[in-house]
Amino acid sequence: MKAFTKLVLVGVAAAFVAFQWRGPTLDPESLKGARVLVTGASTGIGEQIAYHLAGFGAKVVITARREKVLQQVVEKCQVLGAQKALHIAADMANPSDPERVVKFAVDKLGGLDYLVLNHIGPSPFAMWDGDVEHTRWLMQVNFLSYLQMAKTALPVLEQSKGSIVVVSSLLGKMCSPFVAPYSSTKFALNGFFGTLQHELAMQRSNVSITICVLGLIDTDSALEKVKGFTNIQAWPASEAALHIITSGATREAESYYPWFWSQIIL
Ligand code: NAP
Repeated sequence: MKAFTKLVLVGVAAAFVAFQWRGPTLDPESLKGARVLVTGASTGIGEQIAYHLAGFGAKVVITARREKVLQQVVEKCQVLGAQKALHIAADMANPSDPERVVKFAVDKLGGLDYLVLNHIGPSPFAMWDGDVEHTRWLMQVNFLSYLQMAKTALPVLEQSKGSIVVVSSLLGKMCSPFVAPYSSTKFALNGFFGTLQHELAMQRSNVSITICVLGLIDTDSALEKVKGFTNIQAWPASEAALHIITSGATREAESYYPWFWSQIIL
């Protein structure tokens, strides 16, 4: 290969990496007054998403199972500057709760601009022991409830030119031991919402779907699981949350945090 061609290829690769590193830029003003429903927001990444949104002056409804913890997160959101902050306790294992939650948010916020699907049910970090029922239950919590919420929210998001943001995982892109039920739900999410992106585009829908693929994040639940199994770096939940908000607000189809995982998966 001629030296000039090599130089051009290196230049193109460097520009690509630099672009990935830079990522899209968030206009915080675009989130002032935005009506957002965040699931799994009593703790972890969802809680951090709620705090960032509050700081940007959004109107938020948060949901998870534990009412008291949700109440504390709501109070902090109010202090941080949320135009509105409300909570609704719900269990996504209950097939009627996903629709009830979306209807509550639409009713209280007067519409919806963002549906951030983030919750996950607890699942053991262990070799699969043949428990089919747990996987069936987890599919309802981590996957089917996402579909139910998306279905209920889509007509409202169509009106507001809104967005669905799906929080997914590297374990929905590659296989690893000890996570068979969890990984199955994340592969299912990537497949379903990846397909829906195409179908909405074919229908010239106003709604964008963003799939956020996360590496290991330093939430209590994740660190507890991988303790003694891996030394890979866990990235900060607050930064992951900001990345998710930015990707959704800039209507990216797929985003990776930390960014370099996109290159490795490629
Ligand atoms: P987390 O700390 O375990 O939080 C899970 C949230 O879901 C909590 O708010 C929990 O609240 C709620 N939840 C649990 N069961 C529920 C149910 N049956 N119905 C409704 N809500 C329920 O999780 P995280 O680490 O922040 O992860 C958030 C997202 O990031 C997930 O989609 C996860 O797959 C993704 N992700 C995380 C990592 C990581 O390393 N942390 C890596 C890749 C992807 P209650 O207990 O109050 O219900």
